[in-house]
Amino acid sequence: MLNKKTLEDVEVRGKRVLVRCDFNVPLDADGNITDENRIVGAMPTINYLVENGAKVILCSHMGKPKGEPVPSMSLAPVAKRLSEKLGKEVVFAADNEVVGENAKAAVAAMAEGDVVLLENTRYRKEETKNVAEFSAELASLADVFVNDAFGTAHRAHCSNVGVAEHLPAVGGYLINKEIEFLGNAVNNPVRPLVAVLGGSKVSSKISVIENLLKKVDKLIIGGGMAYTFKAAMGQKTGNSLLETDYIEYAKKMLEEAGDKIVLPIDTVVADDFNNDANTQIVEGDIPEGWEGLDIGPKSIELFKSVLADAKTVVWNGPMGVFEMSNFAKGTNEIAAMLAELDAVTVIGGGDSVAAVNQAGLGDKMSHISTGGGASLEFLEGKELPGIVALLDR
Ligand code: ADP
Ligand code: MG
Repeated sequence: MLNKKTLEDVEVRGKRVLVRCDFNVPLDADGNITDENRIVGAMPTINYLVENGAKVILCSHMGKPKGEPVPSMSLAPVAKRLSEKLGKEVVFAADNEVVGENAKAAVAAMAEGDVVLLENTRYRKEETKNVAEFSAELASLADVFVNDAFGTAHRAHCSNVGVAEHLPAVGGYLINKEIEFLGNAVNNPVRPLVAVLGGSKVSSKISVIENLLKKVDKLIIGGGMAYTFKAAMGQKTGNSLLETDYIEYAKKMLEEAGDKIVLPIDTVVADDFNNDANTQIVEGDIPEGWEGLDIGPKSIELFKSVLADAKTVVWNGPMGVFEMSNFAKGTNEIAAMLAELDAVTVIGGGDSVAAVNQAGLGDKMSHISTGGGASLEFLEGKELPGIVALLDR
């Protein structure tokens, strides 16, 4: 994955360069962008191309318009915000068919350094089915393709995979950073490598557990998935999240992994799934009528002691129900520890990233992945079609 060509490996001056960005930003009811992180993330690639005299044609999806024009999912507000950020006009090609007359005319009128933004690629039903015709239409606008949308790299769509069959395809800065940090952390880490896994379910993270167990020095398991492992050790789990179908699997994992797997030794339990519920801290069995919603103080200390030696940490999945303040301590303490740690720290997964940002520690980590599903598939050891489609060096 690290052997892919980047935008610096191709000539862009005077060329029409189609860039697949991730402009899937949240909008309020009036169409105002409420979080512009994804626009900020796209700027290094756009700035490089503008400075190097490319004709920059941007495209992205937004939301799920399901293959037809939905005005509330138009990319027009993004063009406006991009213009402000760039300090020059970004021409919005308002075309319900994405590559329509407006788009073609806008591209034909471009000079070096100009920027055009196409309409939401998911206005076309072909997009998510990777239908050849739409890929060819997109490609017809450009000479070179740059993929900078990591969030959709685990999907084979027209605008990230199909189009790459027609044009020289390379990675942008954002996608390269993802490949570099996630790739090195998992496949070429500075050791010891410690993974921290949490979140709600074993079932949704099975492939991650299996892939990471082969690679890590230690695997810390917290969050809701820990109770299935607890049950596998013969302990009672009360009303905690439990996937009975996976107890046997957890047993097998524990046998195979030996002391590689580190589990919580105590639990913050509550008598209701509610921030104001009564709580207590228990070791061993969880009493009937109570459910585990966070790791306990001894577990926090144990996990910190394991993390203290790490030189690379990959974290996916919160340690507890961090959305409720009374059960966010485990997650916040691990986040605070990682923020201070002299190690490469990589955070993947939508909720984990939200938790780290909620704790205000996002900029203290080496890398926060921009793709929830994509980073998970990366951690599962899968090849991502959007990255496979890029030219090899
Ligand atoms: P990510 O998006 O980072 O991959 P997941 O989606 O797997 O993470 O899991 C996140 C969810 O797991 C959060 O909504 C959190 O509340 C939940 N969770 C964590 N610990 C527990 C627990 N002990 N009981 C129930 N839910 C939990
Ligand atoms: Mg999630």
